[in-house]
Amino acid sequence: MLTFDQKLDNLATLALRVGVNLQPGQRLVLGGPVEALDLMRRIVEQAYDLGAAHVAVDINDERMGLIRALHAGDDTLDVADEERVAMTKAKLERGDALLRIAGSDPDLMAPADPTRVARMTRAASVAHRPVGDLVQRAFMQWSIIAFATPAWARKAFPDVPEDEAVAKLWDAIFAATRADLDDPVGAWQAHLATLRQANDHLNARAYRALHLRAPGTDLRLGLADSHVWESGGTVAESNGVGFVANMPTEEVFTAPHARRVDGVIASSKPLSYQGQLIDRFQLTFEGGAVVAAKAERGQAALDKLLEIDEGARRLGEIALVPHESPISQSGLLFYNTLFDENAACHVALGRAYEVTMRDGAKRPLEELQRDGFNQSFTHVDFMFGSGELDVDGELPDGTLEPVMRGGAWAF
Ligand code: ZN
Ligand code: ZN
Repeated sequence: MLTFDQKLDNLATLALRVGVNLQPGQRLVLGGPVEALDLMRRIVEQAYDLGAAHVAVDINDERMGLIRALHAGDDTLDVADEERVAMTKAKLERGDALLRIAGSDPDLMAPADPTRVARMTRAASVAHRPVGDLVQRAFMQWSIIAFATPAWARKAFPDVPEDEAVAKLWDAIFAATRADLDDPVGAWQAHLATLRQANDHLNARAYRALHLRAPGTDLRLGLADSHVWESGGTVAESNGVGFVANMPTEEVFTAPHARRVDGVIASSKPLSYQGQLIDRFQLTFEGGAVVAAKAERGQAALDKLLEIDEGARRLGEIALVPHESPISQSGLLFYNTLFDENAACHVALGRAYEVTMRDGAKRPLEELQRDGFNQSFTHVDFMFGSGELDVDGELPDGTLEPVMRGGAWAF
């Protein structure tokens, strides 16, 4: 049994050695919430022990965002901090690794007007684009880990006192990231090898579409013409170093065809979007675009999401996650995409990842778009997977074969 301190040290070790896979002499850009100061100090210490040339730390307080949404003048909401983005971009273009610590309050923006929040979000997304581009194409190593902030813990475990909620959330984070094991780095290497097997199978079959069936879901989801399936590890373009972008990660994912998705898909878990909860929703697709969207809760937030731009109405990711994944089996709703997206099969509205297209980082965007690559300012995952999900793969000649049955791999 490891102590809490040992597990937190393990999380720092995993973030550096498996997540960004920091190399001796390399610089690190570390960003996280003010609540995570203790974890950030451990990361900085271990980074220098691993030979980091420099660690640039960016501490933020998300409540400042809420304060702005409540108090800023209506004519100022499209202003964004481009200079700060330019600074980060310069560091990443040099090849610095990027590590982010997530732990947002899922209800942060609930007191604010969704229209104002959407404008701020859009302005920030547009400004963030130069950094987002480098991240999406895996130019340098990057990774995200989680920190159990009190606000997030209260949301995930509303029925217990705050101290207990934080402790429970930490237990769940440590279990999902394998930080509670004696040899967490070794456990990750074994896990990544298992993901690689499913990944290689899907690439070998080269399906042109998937057929998804579950209660409320009946969708033919075309795959982009030169799509490739990806999982766990990615290789950075700038230095060829392998890294794991999300910890945890249980998904095998690729690029849908932006113009070849037809049918209906129902969410299987609530979507926490910009502090708003969207729940029990169903989207109808025609020719790749959402033509109808109905939510039992959060209809206004869902409509706002779909209106961000043309690409927000189309899919940029399809990810398969076995229903028996440790996060799914925990039965918890984390209200955090990093965890919840690894609990179940999901799709993303918005931008596709270049890494899910053959030579995606090297080919011009217009060519990728001809192949079905979706372009947008946003990328929002929602879950449709469950123990009742069946998935068939459609071969180039139209033959169907089982990919998942009852939420489990069927090959
Ligand atoms: Zn995903
Ligand atoms: Zn995603």
